Amino acid sequence: MAKRNAPLDDLSRYGRLAEYNRKRRFDVTPEPPGRAGKKKATRALEFVVQKHRASHLHYDFRIEHEGVMLSWAVAKGPSLDSSVRRLAMMTEPHPMDYNDFEGVIPEGEYGGGTVMIWDRGTWEPESPDVNRALAKGDLKMRLHGKKMKGSWVLVRMRDRQWLLIKHRDAYASATEDLTLSKAKSVVSRRGMVGIARAAGASPRQLEQAAGADPPRTPASPARPTAHPPRSTAKPA
Ligand code: MN
Repeated sequence: MAKRNAPLDDLSRYGRLAEYNRKRRFDVTPEPPGRAGKKKATRALEFVVQKHRASHLHYDFRIEHEGVMLSWAVAKGPSLDSSVRRLAMMTEPHPMDYNDFEGVIPEGEYGGGTVMIWDRGTWEPESPDVNRALAKGDLKMRLHGKKMKGSWVLVRMRDRQWLLIKHRDAYASATEDLTLSKAKSVVSRRGMVGIARAAGASPRQLEQAAGADPPRTPASPARPTAHPPRSTAKPA
């Protein structure tokens, strides 16, 4: 699989993806092998959020930096409420090719389970020097996603534990929960169970994917009904 004749200067860049590659068997998982991305100074930096039902449901928040996707696993997903601090565990940097991955990682493989491209777009650092901000553990950024927008910050508590916090701005909201109001894939419009089914997930993975989708809601984004409708329907 690996390119035998990769130039040496590329090999040196595999270092940042070594942990990613070591954890995965690319003859088994549909995930892409880790290669450092091309750096094109002219285009905007990418960001992606992947909703991932592995052993636990989490949202993998990834931002492009120096040819790889720096990654944090956010257990409950991002919050638009600027008073909420979401724990974000830093994980191994991922290849930029990973930004296109939506599907199912087989049972027994690292991170086995369903992956959705939950949000995607570009980002700009609001901290002047990203490497210095990362070292300091305080990275301010502006996100231009379909769901996540405006100013956010990642703050390191200790080791790999960071917090993801929404800054107070026009995109902040104390009431909207994006994980419920915008639960579908931004590339396929599918829910977790649709992705799992299409990728031939195991029955256990299908059940877990279904549990990771929000409960079915009425088609119209109406007010929640105070009383259940008086219907003659029998209980399911
Ligand atoms: Mn994950």
